[in-house]
Amino acid sequence: MLGGGPAGLAAATSAARLGSKVLLLERYGFLGGMGTAGGVTNFAGLYAKTPDGFAQVVRGAADELLNRIDALGGLNAPQDGMQGRIRVRSYDTSAYKIAADQWCAAHGVQLLFHALAVGCVREGDELQALIIETKSGRQAIRARCFIDASGDADLAHYAGVPLEYGDGAGNALYPSTMFRVGHVDAAVALAAVGEFSAINALMAQAADRYAFARNGAILRPQKNPSQWRANVTQLKAADGRAINAVDAAQLSLAETQGREQIAEYMRFLKAEVPGFAQAEIIEIAPQVGVRETRRLQSSFQLSGEHIESSAEFEDCIGINAWPMELHNEGRIDWKFWRDPGRQCNDLPYRMLLPQGLRNLLVAGRCAGMTHEGQSAARASGGCFVMGQAAGTAAAQFGGDFAALDITRIQSQLKADGAVLAT
Ligand SMILES: Cc1cc2nc3c(=O)[nH]c(=O)nc-3n(C[C@H](O)[C@H](O)[C@H](O)COP(=O)(O)OP(=O)(O)OC[C@H]3O[C@@H](n4cnc5c(N)ncnc54)[C@H](O)[C@@H]3O)c2cc1C
Repeated sequence: MLGGGPAGLAAATSAARLGSKVLLLERYGFLGGMGTAGGVTNFAGLYAKTPDGFAQVVRGAADELLNRIDALGGLNAPQDGMQGRIRVRSYDTSAYKIAADQWCAAHGVQLLFHALAVGCVREGDELQALIIETKSGRQAIRARCFIDASGDADLAHYAGVPLEYGDGAGNALYPSTMFRVGHVDAAVALAAVGEFSAINALMAQAADRYAFARNGAILRPQKNPSQWRANVTQLKAADGRAINAVDAAQLSLAETQGREQIAEYMRFLKAEVPGFAQAEIIEIAPQVGVRETRRLQSSFQLSGEHIESSAEFEDCIGINAWPMELHNEGRIDWKFWRDPGRQCNDLPYRMLLPQGLRNLLVAGRCAGMTHEGQSAARASGGCFVMGQAAGTAAAQFGGDFAALDITRIQSQLKADGAVLAT
């Protein structure tokens, strides 16, 4: 199992709970992926809007993690935004890290931290081993089957599996460096910018005095409302396109650019936003927040049209309840489901299947989706769904992931609390 983000965590714990021997490899010393290393601090895509209010449509593995974060006091109550069209839950990243450790331990997942995947051994249509670099040196990890939940499809890339990048013309979603500010006057700030989009009007008024990287921000209170999280930076390469986060030089540029943009945004927050005069940065995320790099070119790609049409699939493994959130140059474009009665869509098993390899699945933000489809299902909710399904499939693996009986996977997912129909 490669990668300890939402997809890898759900995959590892699900497979282990069902009796598989699981080794989870992670390049950092903690779990959570973008949710911790990228400073995301927010679960999106768990709730779908229905005519009767919101319904939680991603459960199972996601519930196990959320319950553990909640027990540590690190989970906020659900927050609604965008005129009641979306519902999210913010969390404390330290609680997430501890809860993820506990979750893996409870199911007997073996963890190997500070292990960077750097290659693989492939023979024909079978992956034999994953090569990692650790403080103990280079090692080959053999397994019957593998799940690539690296976010960047690193293992699939090493194995030579067909992959895609961005929109096909070199444009991926722009990355952002996330940060949190503390020492905010909670009451004043909530009154001024508590509503999801209120900050955008203040930014528009001040646009001639500050160098904003994009129009508008997602500025949200944390569990302790004297702390707020800012999603506002946008990281560009020299040609103006999104930083390519699987290009080492560009990724490096993104880190310094992100911190420069944060310093400028703090100047704005302190001077212009009620409640933020005494605010200070309390954390810049350990790494640039990467939304999109390589994605699997599977025989089936989840597309923007599948999102907008609330698509249903016979090989459904769970629900995506996040709209398209396209981080384009200078702005975010949102696209919702057309049917007001079904503000969500199915996710199919086929999107996890690579071409040409029978013992690999690819789950999470690098699974088989188009650029538009990925802008929705990349949210934590969709990644938990894909991860739980991949782990469940791994526990039933008999030599070829494509040959598995989907109805058996679906039965197991339902028995384990996953929601497969809305
Ligand atoms: C700025 C930003 C804001 C976002 N906001 C939200 C939000 O508000 N709500 C929400 O739900 N989602 C949000 N997302 C999306 C969401 O966080 C990610 O899409 C999601 O975490 C992807 O999960 P994943 O498991 O597929 O990959 P990741 O979370 O990227 O996890 C991949 C893991 O693999 C590890 N890894 C990668 N390569 C290797 C390697 N070669 N060797 C070893 N380990 C490796 C990484 O360290 C990481 O732990 C945001 C994303 C970004 C970038």
